Amino acid sequence: MSELILDLSEGIQEIQKQKAKRVVIQLPEGLKVKSFEIVNEIQTQTGAQCIVLCDPVFGACDLAEYERNQLKADIILHFGHTQFVKKDFGKTIYIPLLYEIDSRVEEKLGNELVKKLQKEKIKTIGISGVIQFKPTIEFLKKYLTQQGLEIKTGKGKLTGEAQLLGCDALSVKSIENQVDCIVYVGDGNFHSLPIQFTLDKKIFALNPLNETIEELKGDKERYLRQRYGLIALAQRAQKFGILVSLKEGQYRIELALQLKKTIEQTGKQAYVFAADLILPEFFIGLDIDCFVCTACPRISIEDAKKWKKPLINGIELEMALGKRSMENYIFEELI
Ligand code: SF4
Repeated sequence: MSELILDLSEGIQEIQKQKAKRVVIQLPEGLKVKSFEIVNEIQTQTGAQCIVLCDPVFGACDLAEYERNQLKADIILHFGHTQFVKKDFGKTIYIPLLYEIDSRVEEKLGNELVKKLQKEKIKTIGISGVIQFKPTIEFLKKYLTQQGLEIKTGKGKLTGEAQLLGCDALSVKSIENQVDCIVYVGDGNFHSLPIQFTLDKKIFALNPLNETIEELKGDKERYLRQRYGLIALAQRAQKFGILVSLKEGQYRIELALQLKKTIEQTGKQAYVFAADLILPEFFIGLDIDCFVCTACPRISIEDAKKWKKPLINGIELEMALGKRSMENYIFEELI
């Protein structure tokens, strides 16, 4: 059986080391049911008061420094993600949650993957995936090496070895020229999309939860068709709303102001709107023809259909304004 490993030892050590008296606990949605277990354990072991924050958590970028100050807490325990490598977000301690996948499932997937790679005569493989599957990535590196295959991994701008974020695909880009194919370890499509834009090589998506391996094909073309449709609508817009997220890791006010200037230089109007959460219902009353999101790339990709007006990103705005050709579409990353 596969399950998430909840290990509080690092958090407890850090609370003791920092002599923290009050702690904010930030949990992903699926882990909130474990709030009592986590709070009881931490309070018993350290004597610190725990306050569970119930706002949604979107990623490593979504921190609660403001809330920590407000609650007069010493530190935040942020569960589910790893630290953005080069960013110091102050008093946040990251506690990643890793999946422990049944060893028989890992063996079965490893074996299936080797057969697919042999069929394609592939010898050198790049591996990258989401942090939750780090143990499976480690298993695959070892297993594939034992089968005589050469494994390469890279680091991201914001992530560690063989780790991928939807806003940072450098761990794959950095090894692009050294590999015959990429194995992406994760669930869901979003994280694999930047890889599909990054390289023109075979990509196998290995999902340890569904126990599947499939070659990724066609997602990029489908995605581009949707985006070109939105860009066409944006070309007709006269009044733009530029959206800035106040979340620390997504905050790009300078980019927003630069985009505003670019729009105004074309004789059109632009206004900047800021919010912590970028949700369509917060912007319904605004008389805007097109929104441009400068926050997490996931918002303009996965939520675009929920918006009544076109929602595009900065790269797509350049295209709508005729400053970038359609052939030069690139997947927008955060940093
Ligand atoms: S900006 Fe988006 S993709 Fe990047 S870490 Fe945050 S939630 Fe994930």
